[in-house]
Amino acid sequence: MRSSRIGLATRLTLVMGMSLAALILVAGIGWWVYQRAFETIARSSLETITALSEDSLARQGKAAASLLAKQLANQVYFLDIGGIGRITSAAVNRGDIEYVIVFDAQGSVLHDGTEDIGTFGQAMNDEFTPRAIATTSTLVQTSDRLIDVTEPLMLGTERIGGVRVGLNRDSSRTGLARMEADLRAQVLEHNRRTLLLFGGTLLAVLLLAGTIAFLSLRKVVQPLREMVEHAREIEQGRFQIAIDRRRRDEIGDLQQAFARMSASLGDYDRQIRALAYRDTLTGLGNRRALHDALPLIFERVRAENSHAALLFIDLDDFKRINDTLGHESGDRVLIQVAERIVRARNETRLDERIDAGWDDEIAARFGGDEFVVLLLGSDVRERARHMAQLTLELLRLPLMTETRPVVLNVSIGIALFPDDADSAQSLLRNADVAMYQAKLHGKNGHRFFNQHMLQVVEDRLGLEQDLRHALQNNDLEMHYQPIIDLGSSTVTGAEALMRWRHPERGNVPPTLFVAVAEEFGLIDQLGEYALRRACRDIRTWPLRPDGQALFVSVNFSVRQLKQRSLAGRIAEVLEAAGLPAERVHIELTESSLLGNDAESMSTLAALARIGVPLWLDDFGTGFSGLAHLRALTVEGVKIDRSFIQEMLNSRSDRALATAIVALTRSLGIRCIAEGVEQEEQMHALKEMGCELAQGYWLGYPMSLADFMLYLGAGPGSSLRDSLRAAQSSEPS
Ligand code: C2E
Ligand code: CA
Ligand code: CA
Repeated sequence: MRSSRIGLATRLTLVMGMSLAALILVAGIGWWVYQRAFETIARSSLETITALSEDSLARQGKAAASLLAKQLANQVYFLDIGGIGRITSAAVNRGDIEYVIVFDAQGSVLHDGTEDIGTFGQAMNDEFTPRAIATTSTLVQTSDRLIDVTEPLMLGTERIGGVRVGLNRDSSRTGLARMEADLRAQVLEHNRRTLLLFGGTLLAVLLLAGTIAFLSLRKVVQPLREMVEHAREIEQGRFQIAIDRRRRDEIGDLQQAFARMSASLGDYDRQIRALAYRDTLTGLGNRRALHDALPLIFERVRAENSHAALLFIDLDDFKRINDTLGHESGDRVLIQVAERIVRARNETRLDERIDAGWDDEIAARFGGDEFVVLLLGSDVRERARHMAQLTLELLRLPLMTETRPVVLNVSIGIALFPDDADSAQSLLRNADVAMYQAKLHGKNGHRFFNQHMLQVVEDRLGLEQDLRHALQNNDLEMHYQPIIDLGSSTVTGAEALMRWRHPERGNVPPTLFVAVAEEFGLIDQLGEYALRRACRDIRTWPLRPDGQALFVSVNFSVRQLKQRSLAGRIAEVLEAAGLPAERVHIELTESSLLGNDAESMSTLAALARIGVPLWLDDFGTGFSGLAHLRALTVEGVKIDRSFIQEMLNSRSDRALATAIVALTRSLGIRCIAEGVEQEEQMHALKEMGCELAQGYWLGYPMSLADFMLYLGAGPGSSLRDSLRAAQSSEPS
């Protein structure tokens, strides 16, 4: 396409060239016509002049001949040769007369104007003779050289002879030739001048046209070309274009319109960028801003031999706030967290001097509850540590929500550039890995990245592979921890807790492999595995001394609630095992149940319909209130271990445990105290009126075989003894 394109300048030049060629052609034709006309005029005027001079020569001859005829008539009649001689010789010497011949009626010469009359008496025999002898009136004859006028000599009516006057045409001819040469010379001179004038004018016109064409090309095409160039710049995102604003014509208008357009495009571009790069909730930069800015910043950092630190800040359990207090509260919390992060960053800038580079110390919201801060300079390691501590400190102060203050923990991972990674992407990943480690190590802390952490991540990948394998090969075991009725001191059921003995790693904690299963989408499979195992095992359990059947309590991950068919699957497993729904209980962590996500709620409703009793696990650590408890059909709650453990030392924990027990009683639901490790704790719980308890003091989680022994110890032996008898390796 491009090659066949004809530019405006080329077109204008072509049109201009063609017009000039036409002009030259017309001028040439004009010149030719003019030339022809001029020559015709010159020739015909020469002819006219020639004719006129011949005419006057003839008239001169006639006048001379008739005068001679009058003078000679008598002399001829009398043959007075002397008289004839006088008259003729006088005539011969005059003007152009070359000869005078007087002849008689027979045509014989009487006188030839010479002194000796050499031809006297001879007959005339030149070319004019025959008609000259015969004529009776004036006769003009011409030859190449001569004009011969014959006048008859009459006596009355009788012709007695004649006189001939011969005129030389040569002299008039040479005059004419001179005249013609003169004229030609003049014509040539005239032509030369005209040609000069004409050519000069043409040249001037050409020059003028060329100049006009060149100027107009420059005036029109040049700005157009410039604008095309500017348009290219605009395409590349450079909106500052220099335009000559002095021009006051259409092109000038166009240029100015173009400049205005470019300026407003630039404004839009800036606005769009600002919008596209800003997180609307917190006003910080967003993920895109970070992605676009980091490579450029790192390029500079590298060039300046400087350093950068990237802090990856993640809120622990933020989802819980969203789920329990609503999204508006969640938003308010995020805004305040962002403010505190920025404050922490700014307070690590000990130097009061305003450093231009600090604009590059981006603080961005990376995802829902993830924030990223970039620090620059040679001392970033110390600053990053300082900032992490400051952030943790600032977030220890409660955050305001719509209804009440909350305290949130954060986990912070830090990676350094160029020490830990040499690209934006890997630096972000490594900071994320470090953050994850901070979370694994008890949350609410910070961790610097090290290469060993990547190993841990890789380990998780390996763990996932092994877990798939273990699920397929039925390598996962179920342990059971007895749940004791404090009133009757008998076993009423057991919590099923999964165990995985890895061939190389040894015992893998359930918190770890459950998290891996959740992360890699294996949780539904794992959940069903646990349920089937528990249903299979419980069928071998003996009845209680009072004839009642024991129940098994299976832990479910909140992620499993996303499975629409969960209730249906559970019903199938129960039916296949021939178990009534009330013998298999389900434990879900308190906080997970209270989200307002519709999917989970409908699964919960379906579970209630099939009659499976539901327990709220780790109760007291979440945000649930009475309203939530009433909204759900639950069997009861399991008071979180942490309250039981501190119960004897901490008044507030004891008060909380007491309150929960009272609350469940008034709601008519049941209550299990978890983590009972001491006899005193058991007594205290009994006093409070807590119905059920579970813990190391009452029985470790144990293998099915051990649990059977434990159950078979019979009513005679004390709980403590049977526990000891069935002692398994737990806890390590
Ligand atoms: P959880 O549901 O809160 O389970 C109770 C945990 O407390 C168990 O840890 C148990 O061994 C431990 N425990 C019981 N009595 C005492 C005590 O007196 N003192 C102390 N310090 N701890 C006690 P375990 O077995 O390590 O399980 C950890 C968590 O893993 C469980 O917490 C549960 O959330 C999860 N989990 C275990 N098995 C399964 C399973 O089959 N499915 C699912 N989804 N989660 C499971
Ligand atoms: Ca549990
Ligand atoms: Ca628990």
